[in-house]
Amino acid sequence: MSAHYKNFKTVVYLPAWEAARLTKEKLEKDYAFLEKYIGLDKVYLETYRDRDVPEERLRLIKDFLEEKGVEVSGGITTTSGDFEGAEGGKRRLFNTLCYSDPAMRERIKKISEYTAGIFDEIILDDFYFTNCSCERCIQAKGDRDWVTFRRELMKDVSENLIVGPAKKINPKAKLIVKYPNWRESYHFTGYVPEEQEKIFDATYIGTETRSPAYTDQHLPEYLSYMLVRYMDNAWQGRCGGGWFDPYQCWSSDRYLEQAYLTAFAQAKELMHFQWGDLIENRFVTAMGMQLKKIDEMMEGTGKACGIPVYLPYASCGENHLEMRLGMLGFPMEAVNRFPGDAPKLFLTKSALADKEILGKLEKYVRDGGDAVITTGFLAEVQDELKRIGLTEARLTGKKYTVTRYHVTGDYAGYLEQNEGIVFPELLHGNNESWSLLNGGEGDLHTSLLLRSTYGKGRLYILSIPDHDSDLYKLPREAVDVCKRVLTGDDYVSGTGFSSFIYDDGSFILYRYVKAPLRTERVSVHTRKKAQTLLDVTSGERIPATKKIVHEDFERHEEMVAELILTPGEFRRYRWE
Ligand SMILES: [Zn+2]
Repeated sequence: MSAHYKNFKTVVYLPAWEAARLTKEKLEKDYAFLEKYIGLDKVYLETYRDRDVPEERLRLIKDFLEEKGVEVSGGITTTSGDFEGAEGGKRRLFNTLCYSDPAMRERIKKISEYTAGIFDEIILDDFYFTNCSCERCIQAKGDRDWVTFRRELMKDVSENLIVGPAKKINPKAKLIVKYPNWRESYHFTGYVPEEQEKIFDATYIGTETRSPAYTDQHLPEYLSYMLVRYMDNAWQGRCGGGWFDPYQCWSSDRYLEQAYLTAFAQAKELMHFQWGDLIENRFVTAMGMQLKKIDEMMEGTGKACGIPVYLPYASCGENHLEMRLGMLGFPMEAVNRFPGDAPKLFLTKSALADKEILGKLEKYVRDGGDAVITTGFLAEVQDELKRIGLTEARLTGKKYTVTRYHVTGDYAGYLEQNEGIVFPELLHGNNESWSLLNGGEGDLHTSLLLRSTYGKGRLYILSIPDHDSDLYKLPREAVDVCKRVLTGDDYVSGTGFSSFIYDDGSFILYRYVKAPLRTERVSVHTRKKAQTLLDVTSGERIPATKKIVHEDFERHEEMVAELILTPGEFRRYRWE
């Protein structure tokens, strides 16, 4: 267990190039810095990344750290430096390996064996993929497509070049495959978690989100939470931790938020990449203090949970959309198995990677589930859904620039907004299905959230704007309609924050340090018999007031507590 924290371990990655140049004096000094500002529990010490590290150097570092009470495991990055005998002239991103090249295969096997001779636990950094399309790979691929070829290739590599040889040298060796933060593209590059979960002992996940607007991956901040949950669900508790770095963060808060969300997702280890770039880095100076607060706040939380979004392995489409809902305060939980037992579920275009999805959806709704599908999902299967009888609604291909929102269940629920957001036109039979939220301009509108009933359940269609991140511009009243459908009777009204919920009934609210950079008033709603909202850490009790809401032309009573969220501050609450 951690010597510093109760809910997670703090871990630093020490790459080969740093290991190769660390002297005893520098090691002493660096360690003191990390211990002071992060509280160092564990280090993954790399034996190979473009270059080898001699065993005596590894032993020196390992012995020094272990003497300080720091746990030490091994690491490998599968990139090629000067592999003797390997074919040259290949065009591969990031110098990843060609696993059709016998010299490279032999070399990586030796590296795995070498590492297993020193360490009982080994992690592979997320360059463990292949995009090689050299002549040899084209020949080996034959009639298969690249996805199929790479999938079979990397299964073989995992079994016969990495895990098999390592365990032969060291039967105690535990092998961890770390996946990158680009889940939607794993299958294109030979990442096969469905096979690798049977071969490797554990997994790990990249949670670096950096600057969402300006970096090439444009990742929502919520990814740092969601991917940990996804991998932990998929590998059934065998996700070892989340891994983030300080690059392209450009502010300390942006850097720290990656760690916060990784911890909120209950990652067992918080991996700080990497040793050399953390030393004397102002971003990390607040880390230890913040982690202590999170550790204290997280004490006694149940298991993280949320609205299940079904993302089968090897799926893509409407990428990151569920994370954008996470940025609006929807507590999302990503799963790779169809969540047939959940009372509600959310499906994007990615769910269509499951070839049996329509049959599962039909049964789910018929048996009483509430399913929300996106217009992106609908667009692909509207004829089939009509034939099945789940909905007659169709996308016409026309677009609306929405400047007016109408919450139909609320007699005065009209909102005008100057900035238009472009939505697809959703045509449906009036009173055959019912629109809970309309969006329009001039004398026209279309449904933005439509409900059909089927069997004992309901199917909802959520309209997604042409530009996904325009979701952030929706008025909060419009977002609230969707929250009531997806989260049920308990929701937090407002935008610009995330809500993380746990099965003990508590939840964490966090407002990001991003524009508009100001406090935000939110209101916490429940239909439980509650009187006050407890701030679990401070013990402060926020009184709730009774409010009458109209929904579906029915009158409901809710308890509502008002809160002010400050950017960069996290709090955990529970109704009492
Ligand atoms: Zn190749």
